[in-house]
Amino acid sequence: MSSDRWAKRSAAAGLVNLLLPLRCAGCGLAGFVLCAGCGGRFAELRRVRPPELSPAPPVHALARYGGRARRALLACKEGGRRDLEGPLAARVAVAVREILDEHAALVGTGPVRLVPAPSRAAAVRRRGRAHLVRLARRAERGLPGVRTADCLRLSPRVRDSVGLDSARRFENLRGGVLVRTNRLPPPGTPVLLFDDVLTTGATVLNCREALAGAGVPVVAVLVLANAAREP
Ligand SMILES: [Zn+2]
Repeated sequence: MSSDRWAKRSAAAGLVNLLLPLRCAGCGLAGFVLCAGCGGRFAELRRVRPPELSPAPPVHALARYGGRARRALLACKEGGRRDLEGPLAARVAVAVREILDEHAALVGTGPVRLVPAPSRAAAVRRRGRAHLVRLARRAERGLPGVRTADCLRLSPRVRDSVGLDSARRFENLRGGVLVRTNRLPPPGTPVLLFDDVLTTGATVLNCREALAGAGVPVVAVLVLANAAREP
């Protein structure tokens, strides 16, 4: 972008900020991107397991998908709030470190790849960015030995899963996660799969199978929020 266009865009963004003062994406509190209370919704990493998924690899969630956490996630994902990427990526970085420490025996001491779950191409175009890839790349900055591998994509035949029940979500995604072979980590490289919302486990299952087929093992899964029932 030319500096002139950049200046115009910055000026426009500044005007928007003046018209729409900064508000917490979770609760609307003025003066915050994400206030301490809402940020705290992403502070407790815990193990979750949808009934359709086997116990391995372990799935960890930062938040329960509801209320403030849901509003903040949707603001980042669909509402264009890129200013949330910093605070959320910081939580992801802490969580990845915790997970790698917990599963040290599985991970080993070599490099680890953080693999974002793929979004539909139409959704990426609508949002103007691949939000999970951006969050992963931002999180990796604070994680020595961890690099993002954006090596999965969705087949064009996969539909938007909003509104689909569990069986239809699995059916929609079956065989629909494909690997980008030129971006795959070397075979055997331990992978941490990263997704935003865990609903049925269909995405996790199909990503894991696609990666396993390429010789890349998923050792653990991190999701920002869990929408599946918890015991
Ligand atoms: Zn808040």
